[in-house]
Amino acid sequence: MARYVFITGGVVSSLGKGLASAALGALLQARGFSVRLRKLDPYLNVDPGTMSPFEHGEVFVTDDGAETDLDLGHYERFTGVPARRTDSISSGRIYTNVLEKERRGDYLGKTIQVIPHVTNEIKDFLAIGGDEPDFMLCEIGGTVGDIEGLPFFEAIRQFAHERPRGQCIFMHLTLLPWLAASGELKTKPTQHSVKELRAIGIAPDVLVCRSEQPIPEKERAKIALFCNVRAEAVIPAYDLKSIYEAPLAYHRVGLDQAVLDAFGISPAPRPNLARWEDVMDRLDNAEGDVRVAIVGKYTQLEDAYKSIKEALTHGGMANRVRVQVEWIDAEIFEREDPTPHLQGLHAILVPGGFGERGTEGKIRAAQWAREKKIPYLGICLGMQMAVIEAARNLAGMDDAGSEEFDHEAGAKRFTPVVYHLKEWLQGNAVVERRPEDDKGGTMRLGAYAARLAEGSAVARVYGTTRIEERHRHRYEVDIAFREQLEGTGLRFSGMSPDGRLPEIVEHEGHPWFIGVQFHPELKSKPFAPHPLFADFIRAAVETSRLV
Ligand code: GLN
Repeated sequence: MARYVFITGGVVSSLGKGLASAALGALLQARGFSVRLRKLDPYLNVDPGTMSPFEHGEVFVTDDGAETDLDLGHYERFTGVPARRTDSISSGRIYTNVLEKERRGDYLGKTIQVIPHVTNEIKDFLAIGGDEPDFMLCEIGGTVGDIEGLPFFEAIRQFAHERPRGQCIFMHLTLLPWLAASGELKTKPTQHSVKELRAIGIAPDVLVCRSEQPIPEKERAKIALFCNVRAEAVIPAYDLKSIYEAPLAYHRVGLDQAVLDAFGISPAPRPNLARWEDVMDRLDNAEGDVRVAIVGKYTQLEDAYKSIKEALTHGGMANRVRVQVEWIDAEIFEREDPTPHLQGLHAILVPGGFGERGTEGKIRAAQWAREKKIPYLGICLGMQMAVIEAARNLAGMDDAGSEEFDHEAGAKRFTPVVYHLKEWLQGNAVVERRPEDDKGGTMRLGAYAARLAEGSAVARVYGTTRIEERHRHRYEVDIAFREQLEGTGLRFSGMSPDGRLPEIVEHEGHPWFIGVQFHPELKSKPFAPHPLFADFIRAAVETSRLV
């Protein structure tokens, strides 16, 4: 049975609970343990799939097709453990399950209550796969005291209570605010937050205190005394210049040791931190800079493109360069010439997206990259726009477009080179979708295989002709236009195994122009950069030598 670490937060949100959890996972792995990380989100959405990127940042997709919180991306990037559907849950999902059971009569006519029905549902979720890893790290979203969070706190209290002593511990993150006027770090909010936690029956074993200023020994002792936590288990967390510093930084201040101590694991296996030392060496000793444009429509909120930003950093690490991202709102190119905005940049990335807004700008960005021979990586919508660009400007189909935009406008305006997919194969099974299906369930989601054409740029990049990547989209490039488009030099170099769905396109004769229907960014790690991102940045480095 796994040992469970429950990670909660207090005082304010955005303290970096997800990062602390991910870093702890990495450190336990460095000591030879297996880990799995989980996120429990108190909001009432059933999953983040239908939430606006402005609300919630990126939706992270797992191999088994779940649309999850972006924290699962951190978990994967730090541990390399592929997340599963069963690693993420929200109140909305929990309540849906409970209400479905109630309708089916599973509760035999009992009155349905938060305790025990909702809390049992949460505990059942926590227990899934509980015999697999050495450690299960479960992060509770939000902060202690939030109304929606209460059933989760009650459930983790019960879960620990029902297991043998020493099998579960609680780690709590708080903030020590700095009062500049009096030159003091204040511990009172932390005391109150722990008090709140103890009032619901949870006594933290490890306290992680975010602070902008060094925490003096005297304050640490005071927190330990007032919060009833051992002084060695009061862990300072200072601001970092890179998130990838977190494992080494948390190790230096004793986080993993405090966790192992709390479980009574002694002697603790010595950590092997070579992976993270190499990551930091590559980040700290970059030998140059490249500038990459992300031409998107959610550019005001970087979290909307979290995994892409990270994958670009990993691509830089593979080439020992720093990647500077220039965020460009695609709509600008609908009013203005792209040249002044894009000139001098070393590569252009057009990310995924939904809806028509900004798409004409993305098409112009693809055209600019093709004509100026600047490296272009189109992801999902970014691939679709590159195909429309080629159809319009190379194949002479002036009205080429996507059915997505006609659906949105409720009018037929385009010849759909990108069409709404209603039926496809997942492995050997046929998946069917109808327009009346739920918004949350109409997409091709999760891992799908693709075959790459021998001798193509992507086969060289991947070093293989069989790949598997994660998808999240409703629309597909129509192979009916394949011959016409390939005649212009736009090669369909990656196809689904049944040969029906274009997965990758590339422009022959262009130094680096690749569009992919899937999301390679979701699988990139700092210690294992994704080959597409590593090679895209290699091409950007080459461009930087020319311009
Ligand atoms: N909106 C497009 C589709 O649904 C692209 C989706 C995406 O970029 N993730 O096919």
